[in-house]
Amino acid sequence: MVRKPSYDFAVVGGGIVGLAAARALLAARPGASLVLLEKEDRLAAHQTGRNSGVIHSGIYYQPGSLKTELCRRGSAATRAFAAEHSIAVRTCGKLLVATSPAELARMAALEQRAAVNGITTQRLDAAELARREPNVTGCGALFVPATGVIDYALVAEALRADLAGAGATILTGRRVTGIVEAADRVLIDATARDGRPQDGSPLDGGGQDRGTWDATPRDATARNGGARDGAARDERLTAARLVVCAGLQADRLARLAGLRLDLAPLDIAIVPFRGEYYRLPPARDDLINHLVYPIPDPALPFLGVHLTRTPDGGVTVGPNAVLGLSREGYRKGSVNPRDAADCLRFPGLWRLARRNLRAGIREQANSLRKRGYLRECHKYCPSLTTADLTPHPTGIRAQAMRRDGTLIDDFLFAQTDRMLHVLNAPSPAATAALPIGGLIAARLLAADDDAWLRDQGFQLLPRRETVVRNADVNKLRDELLA
Ligand SMILES: Cc1cc2nc3c(=O)[nH]c(=O)nc-3n(C[C@H](O)[C@H](O)[C@H](O)COP(=O)(O)OP(=O)(O)OC[C@H]3O[C@@H](n4cnc5c(N)ncnc54)[C@H](O)[C@@H]3O)c2cc1C
Repeated sequence: MVRKPSYDFAVVGGGIVGLAAARALLAARPGASLVLLEKEDRLAAHQTGRNSGVIHSGIYYQPGSLKTELCRRGSAATRAFAAEHSIAVRTCGKLLVATSPAELARMAALEQRAAVNGITTQRLDAAELARREPNVTGCGALFVPATGVIDYALVAEALRADLAGAGATILTGRRVTGIVEAADRVLIDATARDGRPQDGSPLDGGGQDRGTWDATPRDATARNGGARDGAARDERLTAARLVVCAGLQADRLARLAGLRLDLAPLDIAIVPFRGEYYRLPPARDDLINHLVYPIPDPALPFLGVHLTRTPDGGVTVGPNAVLGLSREGYRKGSVNPRDAADCLRFPGLWRLARRNLRAGIREQANSLRKRGYLRECHKYCPSLTTADLTPHPTGIRAQAMRRDGTLIDDFLFAQTDRMLHVLNAPSPAATAALPIGGLIAARLLAADDDAWLRDQGFQLLPRRETVVRNADVNKLRDELLA
């Protein structure tokens, strides 16, 4: 009989959050065995390798939220990690530019929030803004000196090297297709990348898949009917504890593992929001000196199209935020039938759309017409032309949404006896990844010890529907405990 490989820890997802969680687990338990499974043939293939690269300071976030605290810690931790691993960081500071009296008022509110969050800012009048950024116009700006940029794909690569050095097994090209939590371990099935499920879907998170699962240890080769062909091979392994950081597939993997996301208190799904970018031609790289952002509209869920310096000295324009009909299809117009059906069937999407109809239509139209996209930037940078907008890769945000159409703002985790699923890790999760990893390790290792969790302010609910959140910051807590 072929023995299944058995590990102390398994981590699903080779993005920055999975890598950071793996690193934190091995730091907490040196010498433990750990396997990381990534479905793509390289790490950082999705959100981690397709973002703005900003090390956020935490100015926007609700005081007391996990986002605020972990972003603040993450900004420092990312810089320290970058210094240790010789990764370039450009601390160019960020300007939030107000272009109307209404925006000046919102800017003042942001300034107050920054103060509460312990972030240093400086208010600039129109003249000082013009002096610092001759190509930017506005009636004032808030300067956040600590904001910088980094290449998060390089951070992921350095985390991989650290993990390899600590003895972790990193398996790319392994799509996790099944998870069963047994009393003493978690059974995990993975298929080699080209070994797709029969329905051709990337991953089935429905309950029916669980029905085909057998928690009894079995010979993996026999289960597969022997090696089917050289390319596709199913594997089964076990781990004492499992962490799932699957980004755009987070809800499907949670369902696959038996969590009921369709019921209160969670009642969420991942909705993909495309973030489309352009890049300025090299001759225009000196257009700005800092990162330049609009003042965000509190009624809208994302930050607005901005100008971002890249670590290599370039400038990107974007991202916008348009609904995606393919979770991992990056070309404009990509449609994945299953992703589209999941998205369009989810009532939350329609409720969000009704509330933001005008803005949603405008974003979709601007996505198709450079001129419309440019109008957003002209509010604060009038000299940009359509010729300045050259192609740049798109990113897709994994955003958890509730059935009532509310976007989950904070980081969200669900935990059972032996598993921890990261259900929502939107921006600034790249900035915050190292402390998120620490938090995951602390929660997972403390799962044996309910008293410890309670001391830390976490609430532990019964198995399967268990959700563990920080009681101080969790707005859902009362509902969860009702
Ligand atoms: C357009 C955009 C701009 C952003 N800008 C910033 C920014 O400037 N600063 C910042 O801090 N944050 C930013 N973010 C957010 C940040 O990039 C993400 O929060 C972060 O990368 C999330 O990391 P992750 O590891 O959770 O997800 P991912 O990087 O998406 O990784 C998840 C991994 O899980 C793997 N996976 C999924 N299903 C399976 C399976 N069945 N089996 C095995 N593996 C699986 C995927 O292939 C993927 O590699 C931005 C995001 C986007 C999209």
